[in-house]
Amino acid sequence: MKVKIQIVVESDNGDTQVVQEIMQISRDSLQPENLGLKLAEAKTLLQSIQRTLAEQQVAEYSLQQKSCLHCSQKLLHKDKRTIVYRTLFGKLHLQCQRLFHCPCQEQPTRSFNPVANLIPERTSRELLYLESKYGSLMSYGLSVKLLQELLPIEGEINTTAIRNNLHTIGQRLEDELGGIAPT
Ligand SMILES: [Zn+2]
Repeated sequence: MKVKIQIVVESDNGDTQVVQEIMQISRDSLQPENLGLKLAEAKTLLQSIQRTLAEQQVAEYSLQQKSCLHCSQKLLHKDKRTIVYRTLFGKLHLQCQRLFHCPCQEQPTRSFNPVANLIPERTSRELLYLESKYGSLMSYGLSVKLLQELLPIEGEINTTAIRNNLHTIGQRLEDELGGIAPT
């Protein structure tokens, strides 16, 4: 038996925009070890869904940004850039475009990157949260092994990143407390 998994993307008015096959799963006759999904398949599936969903979201957002918010004039395209964004379900390489500002308003720069402006951080909050959570419960090395075993992020996290993230979060908390001494 062969199971094909497709993603169907619909616009808000219900029109089908994209149908994309993301995975095929083959199974011989039923055995205890081939019943349902395996971890490796689940990880590949999550990674594929993540990539397709994010690409579609970026494409839709980019399309919405192509006109000036003030006068609706079409903005001129400058060039393309790739943003690397780390998530729980794999590293994303998001293709986004830089546009020239509309001359109708004064701007501090000539061009801008709408997607980069919208996503200033390069690691998702959920991934940061899990890295920090396990990094504070066990060694950084074990945290990397655990997260890589369960999530499709092999080779995408390391002990240095976890340590740096924990320091950044610790610093942020200290700043938010504003030097208030604990009672
Ligand atoms: Zn304008």
